[in-house]
Amino acid sequence: MNVPPIDLKNEYKRYGKRVSKRVEKVCASGMYVLGKEVAEFEERFARFTGAKHAVGVASCSDGLLLALMALGVGEGDEVIVPAFTFFSTASAAVRLGAKPVFVDIGPVDYGLKTDEVERKITARTKAVIPVHLYGNPCRIKDLRKITKPRGVHVVEDCAQAVGARVGKRHVGTFGDFGAFSFYPTKTMGAFGDAGIVATNSKKLAEKMKILRNHGESPRYHNKFLGVNSRLDEMQAAVLNVKLDFLSKDIEARKKIAKYYGRLFKEARLSEAVPPRERKGVTHAFHQYVIRAMNRDELLARLREKGIGANVYYPVPLHLQPCLDYLGYTEGDFLEAEEASRDTLALPIYATLKPAQQKFVVETIREFYRR
Ligand SMILES: *Cc1c(COP(=O)(O)O)cnc(C)c1O
Repeated sequence: MNVPPIDLKNEYKRYGKRVSKRVEKVCASGMYVLGKEVAEFEERFARFTGAKHAVGVASCSDGLLLALMALGVGEGDEVIVPAFTFFSTASAAVRLGAKPVFVDIGPVDYGLKTDEVERKITARTKAVIPVHLYGNPCRIKDLRKITKPRGVHVVEDCAQAVGARVGKRHVGTFGDFGAFSFYPTKTMGAFGDAGIVATNSKKLAEKMKILRNHGESPRYHNKFLGVNSRLDEMQAAVLNVKLDFLSKDIEARKKIAKYYGRLFKEARLSEAVPPRERKGVTHAFHQYVIRAMNRDELLARLREKGIGANVYYPVPLHLQPCLDYLGYTEGDFLEAEEASRDTLALPIYATLKPAQQKFVVETIREFYRR
């Protein structure tokens, strides 16, 4: 049996015809940048999340960068970010000349430790970027209680968390901005790079629209120093089709996660611990990440058996070579370092079959039984 890490080709069969038709229409329209498809997608995505506004951008990395720009982050400012996340969470701040200040993660939700955030806020702290890693909502309400009275901005990194909720409210609607990714391997992937930024502030949404388009307002009058980071019509057309499948896909992921949970319980493994969902939140299961003893050996065994497991991420951000100058060393963030050593993402996607899940967990059980 083969269990690929992702199954985009089979997923395409479900919506391929509709995508082709819609993209063909865009091709024939002669309108390729910031047209009807983008406007429609922005409006529908805002409705999906419950945000008042959503502004399409070229990627989530750009979305994070533009969000910090819109909030005026620059030289001399500090931006608090988790030590364990994808690189662009921190690089957004570095690119603007700000200093990323790392904070450790909680071992269950992989989100920022709020008490450590509180200790690290200084007069220079301009923003915090919490991450809802793997689709697991972080403690965003507690974080807001700390940041609000201090006038610190919050930009939520929702790249992996479309569909995740705290109570009934979607992630990405708690902070000043929430940035989402439609990179092809994400829960709702475009056919190339794409992203969107949600906000409840009309003023910030307007500024974001200007910033993504060279800072022009009106045309050829540059109000701000912006960038070229627009969502294009082709990708928006793809996303307008895929948005119809999103709720069902997320439900399918949750079901798959539940079944994995049952299989792990039955396997009674102390060496491999499945993810936990905190009370009152909805984990959207972009990734199904276990904690595993002898992780690298297990990963090699799974790959040998044709199972596409992956490690997100093997090196925490405070130990990345290009951030050496910040002066962090090993031992600074124990939870982040432990997560980089023992987390393992198992295949999860809407078309994954129960028999494939059984094979994955059985292979893990056999590995530890030797
Ligand atoms: C994928 C990802 C990003 C970047 O998204 P892009 O659209 O590829 O730029 C940022 N943060 C996290 C946590 C991610 O997983």
